[in-house]
Amino acid sequence: MLVDADRLHIAIQKSGRLSDVSRQLLKDAGLRLQNGRNALTARVENFPADIMFVRDDDIPTFVADGVCEFGIVGGNVLEEFRLSSSEPAIEVVAPLGQARCSLKLAAPEATVWEGSSTLEGQRIATSYPAIVTRWLAEQGVRASVVKMNGAVELAPRLRIAPFICDLVSTGATLEANGLRPVADVFDSEAVLVRTTRDLSEPKRVQGEALLSRVEGVLQTKDAKYILLNAPSEALPAITRILPGAEAPTIIPLHGRPGHFAVHAVCQESVFWETLEQLKGAGASAVLVLPIEKMML
Ligand code: ATP
Ligand code: MG
Repeated sequence: MLVDADRLHIAIQKSGRLSDVSRQLLKDAGLRLQNGRNALTARVENFPADIMFVRDDDIPTFVADGVCEFGIVGGNVLEEFRLSSSEPAIEVVAPLGQARCSLKLAAPEATVWEGSSTLEGQRIATSYPAIVTRWLAEQGVRASVVKMNGAVELAPRLRIAPFICDLVSTGATLEANGLRPVADVFDSEAVLVRTTRDLSEPKRVQGEALLSRVEGVLQTKDAKYILLNAPSEALPAITRILPGAEAPTIIPLHGRPGHFAVHAVCQESVFWETLEQLKGAGASAVLVLPIEKMML
């Protein structure tokens, strides 16, 4: 397929920990992909965009070069790219709250750890040399960083380096290799990125449309629509309790003077405890409804 100048290009990971997250986000934003799982590109049927399926490490380069206007990538890969690139023409437009993990410094169980000064003069194996080098500078420690592209957790056993710095989500892989985390270096989540290069007017407009859909998807994730009835004296307390609701709608109830219906969009999670508090404050007939789509 030729790169089509009038369509947006969105780079996502072909297969790996970010691919389901990325596909789901595009789907939730209403983008219907044409091709199957094995293709390298897919046309979006109902939006002027094409999807490129690539290695996650290539996503920042594609977006910064302007080959793709958007991409979905781990914050860790993006940060490593920014620190190593002379002209990182890329910006985060939406943190996605998914694929959370952190880059942690780890060492064999028996290592005595007395803070970052323990690293002085030591070697650290990692796939993220730029992030680790910056962290060492912040800590005021001199240590050498050895770049490994994979299987970093083997480095201590292979005597490549006594310390490693690797991505951890549950810690199970570290534990299985006889390692324990000793310091947090960088917290990461998946992010939607955009090129900072100039776009043609049609692409700029399409990009804004995509972004506004994605923001809608992210906002509706925890959002709920709440309906309840309450006497007028309970309204101030109730509006204070409603989580993340701005300007609720208050409507008089027909045939019940002094009683009102309250309708509100709550941007934060609504728990049973919230409902109990609302009841305690005088609310009755409380309904919590999911919100399917939202555009602010
Ligand atoms: P590719 O073949 O595309 O280069 P990869 O093997 O480099 O893939 P994955 O292991 O699929 O990458 O991880 C992609 C991203 O998922 C990571 O960069 C990170 O942002 C995120 N992630 C979340 N949890 C973890 C974890 N426990 N370990 C590694 N990465 C994780
Ligand atoms: Mg990779």
